[in-house]
Amino acid sequence: MPEMPEVETVKRGLNAQVKGRKIMHVEIRYQNLITGDVEQFIEFVTGSTITDVGRRAKFLLIHLDNGYTIISHLRMEGRYRVSADPAAIDKHSHAIFTLDNGQKMIYNDVRKFGRMQLWPTDDLQNNKSIQKLGPEPLSSEFTFKNLKPRIMRHRKDIKTVLLDQSVMSGLGNIYVDEVLWKVKIHPETPANHLTDENIQAIIEASNEEMKMGIESGGSTVRSYVDATGHTGHMQDRLKVYGKEGTPCPRCGTEIKKIKVGGRGTHFCPYCQVVQ
Ligand SMILES: [Zn+2]
Repeated sequence: MPEMPEVETVKRGLNAQVKGRKIMHVEIRYQNLITGDVEQFIEFVTGSTITDVGRRAKFLLIHLDNGYTIISHLRMEGRYRVSADPAAIDKHSHAIFTLDNGQKMIYNDVRKFGRMQLWPTDDLQNNKSIQKLGPEPLSSEFTFKNLKPRIMRHRKDIKTVLLDQSVMSGLGNIYVDEVLWKVKIHPETPANHLTDENIQAIIEASNEEMKMGIESGGSTVRSYVDATGHTGHMQDRLKVYGKEGTPCPRCGTEIKKIKVGGRGTHFCPYCQVVQ
């Protein structure tokens, strides 16, 4: 599943390739991709120009010059490809935007979980998906003052709370495991047991993880947007995620995998203790 750094990478790739381009034609091959009226989506998007591609948490925001924005959520497998090659279109291509330079911006989604919705740009903060998002790492709202009350009002485990996009947004399963390992907090620690120092450490580690993720994803912008399936060098720098049975890089204890809140969770049983 693409996490926030991967979506940021896609955003940068799309900006490099489609910003300023006029959309001449829109083809939607999978009707459920569009939340709302499909005909209206096509009518509004056709003839508009892409002014910028932005991002909020894991949502891509394709801003158009007609006052509307395409909110695009990649979910599990969604990806964009920009190409003039007809061979780039296959049975998993569900939306095809033909641009004024002959290139096509193709949305592929093997599992069909991704969604697109057209929304007035000046009203994005009132969109149901966007509205509920908590502060995201590396933003000016991602502060101790904002995060502490959001975390401390929960009695459930910190892993589940950090995954809750209304508490803080942008961190998925991989990064939450990495952040909790970094700050030495057991994933099953009740959120309201955390100290101020714990919360401050989570904020700093989240910022660092996102920054590193974006930097490693950023080096493979082209391949990601070209949909060759590479997610950058992220795999190389993961410390616990997917590392069960291997030694903890900090203390050598074997990394364990358990289920927390129904999600596969990796941690070091020695470094990370329940508080
Ligand atoms: Zn350890």
